[in-house]
Amino acid sequence: MSQLSSALRLTLIYLLLAGAWIFLGAALTHALPLGGLTSEKVYLLRHVAFALLSALALYALLRAHERQQQRYRRELHRHDERLRQAAVVFEATQEGVLVSDAQMRIIHVNPAFTRITGYREDEVLGQTPRVLKSGRHDQAFYQAMWQSIAKTRSWSGEIWNRRKNGEIYPQWQNLRAIQDESGRTTHYVAVFSDISAIKHSQSELDYLAHHDLLTDLPNRLRFVDRVEHALEYSRLHQSGGAVMILDLDHFKYINESYGHNSGDQLLKAIGQRLRAHLREGITLARLGGDEFAVLYEDCQSPTQAAALARNLLEALQAPIEIDNRPLVVSGSIGISLYPRDAQSVEQLLRNADSALFKAKSEGRQTFVFYHQELTALSRQRIELTIALRQALDRGQLRLYFQPIVDLHNGRQVGAEALLRWQHPERGLVPPGEFIPLAEETGQIAQLDIWALEQACRQLAAWPHLEFLAVNISSRLFGRSELDSQVAEILARTGAEPRRLELEITESAVMDDPDAALELMRRLRQLGVRLAIDDFGTGYSSLARLKEMPVQKLKIDQSFVQGLADDGPDLAIVNSVITLGHSLGLKVLAEGIEQPEQAERLCQLGCDFGQGYLFGRPQPASPEQLTQGAT
Ligand code: C2E
Ligand code: MG
Ligand code: MG
Repeated sequence: MSQLSSALRLTLIYLLLAGAWIFLGAALTHALPLGGLTSEKVYLLRHVAFALLSALALYALLRAHERQQQRYRRELHRHDERLRQAAVVFEATQEGVLVSDAQMRIIHVNPAFTRITGYREDEVLGQTPRVLKSGRHDQAFYQAMWQSIAKTRSWSGEIWNRRKNGEIYPQWQNLRAIQDESGRTTHYVAVFSDISAIKHSQSELDYLAHHDLLTDLPNRLRFVDRVEHALEYSRLHQSGGAVMILDLDHFKYINESYGHNSGDQLLKAIGQRLRAHLREGITLARLGGDEFAVLYEDCQSPTQAAALARNLLEALQAPIEIDNRPLVVSGSIGISLYPRDAQSVEQLLRNADSALFKAKSEGRQTFVFYHQELTALSRQRIELTIALRQALDRGQLRLYFQPIVDLHNGRQVGAEALLRWQHPERGLVPPGEFIPLAEETGQIAQLDIWALEQACRQLAAWPHLEFLAVNISSRLFGRSELDSQVAEILARTGAEPRRLELEITESAVMDDPDAALELMRRLRQLGVRLAIDDFGTGYSSLARLKEMPVQKLKIDQSFVQGLADDGPDLAIVNSVITLGHSLGLKVLAEGIEQPEQAERLCQLGCDFGQGYLFGRPQPASPEQLTQGAT
């Protein structure tokens, strides 16, 4: 087009010059002083001049045109060169390139694209880049990206995509919108590089920054971070936990006598040993030197924290072999509880540290709470826990039985099994003193199973009794395997299931009513009876009670005590009896000490009674038991 127009231009210029010569040539020759020449010569001269001038003009024009052509060809060549270079770059670059049309259909990808994503060109042509979406970014992320493109025609940032093999990976991406002269977007070009390797080394760096190189445990930085999170969690969920600092006693001497190399090995071995004694979820860190720290997040009570501290101190006691030499170490622990002792990390660590100082000054190899009164209490409770563990092994537990009578005829129909601890020094310990502790430490499961088994064996000796009741702790009741344990004991002892009654407290049922209901149904399928103990002290909903497969309600003794005066207790007892009966349940009143109470209850229609009036809890002896039931 431009070629044609320049040819036209040349022709026109020539035409103009030739025309001008035809019209002006004669006048020009007349104006020149050519008097001596003949008119033919002048005519000839004019034609020669015309030929010369037009040849000159033609030459100038053609030359200009030729130069223009050369320039154009050079330009074209350069352009070709650039394109060739671009193509080489496109093919050889390490960065993936994707070109799509305005409708986001992929029209071109390079080999690096295939290498990074795993998709061949023919697999993605005509598709949209959505095939690469990882699902890791939300709508807002993509919205922000398109907003940037609309505004600046480009976006760059980190984006997670999915390879053909399903793996997701991070890439650094530059996305550009290509527009034509009219400003309409015609193409999109994405250039990206796979940064998963960089990310990986970043996480390695991160690991190094937050871990102790010697023991491979989290370091102080990570520990502080974890405690911060734990405090935040405790604020949100009204929960608590414990932070402990454990310091090795006289570690300096080991370093001095055996050398730093042995010292390092020892620290490493101690780190491993402590870790092995902590369950998942408890953080162990090395703060530096011979100082370790523990974050016990779901610690329910000071006793639990103390038990863990004791465990760790015990764990240290066994000799550690370093360079074929057995080394013996001990440690001291300072404990600080949150949120009770402190609400910030610094304060918690400071408190644990000052408790640690106290432990060291108390002669080491011990633990101390930041609050002194906890130290004494926890140590006592721990001693009791250890003694209770031994009580089972050493046969110090006893099962006592208290008669249960039919209130209408005074006949003993059953008995309740009640646990006692025959302590070598303290004598007979009542359950009120050790059952709550056993529940806290989890020992209750063993105790209850023991009581259950003893009671089942006892049943055979008392054929005249309709049933024997055994208490089941809420702790044990919360376990779904209770029914299989009961089934096992029944099978082992040969006891008749219908003569075994399990007493479950109202609160155990209300803790998780759905799970309790399910468990109760399974227990019923075994054929055992179920009673709700201490009824009236919990918060049973009537709707729940209606669904429960229980056969008996045991009215708590606190209501029976107030029966004499016609106060609110009478009304409560009366309504519990009516309610129980309307649901088809038997009702038992506990703690009957006076004949008037028994009489009153009988009038109100209560079915069974239990209390000192009929007999105190006694060791298993059939004669004693029937005597007590008078
Ligand atoms: P509980 O199941 O409500 O047992 C009734 C408690 O009332 C028994 O206390 C019993 O000795 C006492 N008692 C009975 N008659 C009278 C009376 O006329 N007057 C008074 N003041 N008290 C009376 P005990 O034996 O001290 O047991 C206390 C609680 O310990 C039991 O309450 C039960 O919840 C728990 N317990 C006892 N043995 C076991 C067991 O083997 N496993 C579990 N999980 N808990 C047990
Ligand atoms: Mg009971
Ligand atoms: Mg009771």
